[in-house]
Amino acid sequence: YLLLRDSVEDIELQNLNLWQKVNNIKPKAPVKKRVNGAFVSLTRNSDLFGMRKTMRQIEDRFNKNYNYPYIFLNDKPFTDEFKKGVQDMTKANVTFGLVEGEAWDYPSYVDKEKAAEVRKTASYMHAGSESYRFMCRFQSGYFYRHPLLDGLEYYWRIEPDVEYFCDIDYDPFEYMKENKLVYGWNMAPGEYMATVATLWDSVLKFMDKYPQHIEPENFIKYVSEDGKKYNGCHFWTNFEIADLSFYRSKKYEDFFDFLDREGGFFYERWGDAPVHTIAAAIFLKKEQVHYFGDIGYYHPAMGFCPANSDKIGKCVCDPSKHRGIDYECRKKWDTI
Ligand code: GDP
Ligand code: MN
Repeated sequence: YLLLRDSVEDIELQNLNLWQKVNNIKPKAPVKKRVNGAFVSLTRNSDLFGMRKTMRQIEDRFNKNYNYPYIFLNDKPFTDEFKKGVQDMTKANVTFGLVEGEAWDYPSYVDKEKAAEVRKTASYMHAGSESYRFMCRFQSGYFYRHPLLDGLEYYWRIEPDVEYFCDIDYDPFEYMKENKLVYGWNMAPGEYMATVATLWDSVLKFMDKYPQHIEPENFIKYVSEDGKKYNGCHFWTNFEIADLSFYRSKKYEDFFDFLDREGGFFYERWGDAPVHTIAAAIFLKKEQVHYFGDIGYYHPAMGFCPANSDKIGKCVCDPSKHRGIDYECRKKWDTI
């Protein structure tokens, strides 16, 4: 069956090459996807037009050559309008999943009244939002368990209203796989520390309890110079390409469960970005993590324009404006 499938793909590729030759079209990248990967996005129905904007760029800059599928997840059923609206943007396969049960709820060990009190009194961004906290907790410990991701090896997280400034003339999934990379990022800001006031204490307790899980050649220094407190550095997870076996591992499961029991997703406002980043720093070697310094990108508030953007990939960004490359935590990466 596999042989047959391969040869069918080869024939399709030959046909395509022939068609391109006849029509004098030079393909920039082979139209053949080699990796079991997909775009994954948690979104609301109201994100339809922002998501169409993101997809238009993903398709034009990259995916028209590969047709990696899209998986959309939502805590409310997607409307027909949303489904049609995103399907219209791509010829790739698109699936829609509902997030329900414990994936979008309070765990039994969290005190809802205490959580409600925090929402009233805290004053950082999204302090008063319950759904933002469910979102961060889902993105920390549940997205990779959704049945639509079963069997998927790599995922690329996308969000509404982001921009891809440059052509991506190679397959980042394939690059990850070939180089045995586990985690990929492209921007690294600092965290609002009030949202993660006790996160590092919980991480220290976790490391005490599970020393066997800690990678001996870890890069904890990236998130804590002295090991005593968190410096706030995090990979900005609205862009993230990862090997899902990392999240499905026993050590990550123990990590998420431990943090969840600490209650900080609700009593503070722990973000999935510091959680993913700290997990990578304690469980992985630096060489398993890749900085995608060539993928020009913008998410509202911050952008990253590759330095030689006029030479590579038809970028439409001004490197002097989108200075993601200069962020302290981005630069710290080069020094550890
Ligand atoms: P920010 O990036 O921290 O500003 O947060 P966003 O508002 O962009 O949320 C992150 C991602 O989660 C985006 O893809 C949102 O569409 C999605 N998201 C946020 N809140 C909800 C929610 O309550 N329900 C659903 N289904 N998606 C959400
Ligand atoms: Mn966002």
